[in-house]
Amino acid sequence: MNPYPPILSDLIRKLGRLPGLGEKSATRIAMYLLKAPERDVESLAENIRQLRTSIRTCSICFNFTDEPVCAICSDPARDTGEVCIVEGTADLLAIEQSGAFKGRYHVLQGVLAPLDGIGPEQIRIKELFARLKTERIKEIIIATNPSNEGEATAHYLLQILKGHEARVTRIAYGIPMGGDLKYTDRVTLERALKGRQIF
Ligand SMILES: [Zn+2]
Repeated sequence: MNPYPPILSDLIRKLGRLPGLGEKSATRIAMYLLKAPERDVESLAENIRQLRTSIRTCSICFNFTDEPVCAICSDPARDTGEVCIVEGTADLLAIEQSGAFKGRYHVLQGVLAPLDGIGPEQIRIKELFARLKTERIKEIIIATNPSNEGEATAHYLLQILKGHEARVTRIAYGIPMGGDLKYTDRVTLERALKGRQIF
């Protein structure tokens, strides 16, 4: 028999469905919320409530924002001729934190995964083509992840962007800082060698 009152077991079940959480962590979070100061719990609940009403996607790049156009797209200092294609906002933030890119982004809000029923129609690919028609894009940098889906998406994009006047590039993957060549997988090593630069 379930030892918890229905509201609590319901919360545990719902928390347990969140990515990265299992029943154990869900139970721990629920127990924490039970004991946490009321205003903290209220403010968390309010945050979750507002998430769907105030957060939308940027009308240009589809990054999450609370304005019609995100802070990056509305920044006049960004190079509008370069567009970096990423899977999601978390990837965009990682690139932003590196400070290495000064162009704009295109957030696919997903990745091609035919087995999960996610095809080109389910991610922001036609929106990318719409941008290519209206913006003067000189370079498209494909920065999807080095996973099977990320690679498949990159290849798909490469195919459909063929013939477009913009230069299409793919970010290079190398050996991570603190990594070790002898423990690096073959594909990463191959990429690191192909993406080598003059020192
Ligand atoms: Zn934007």
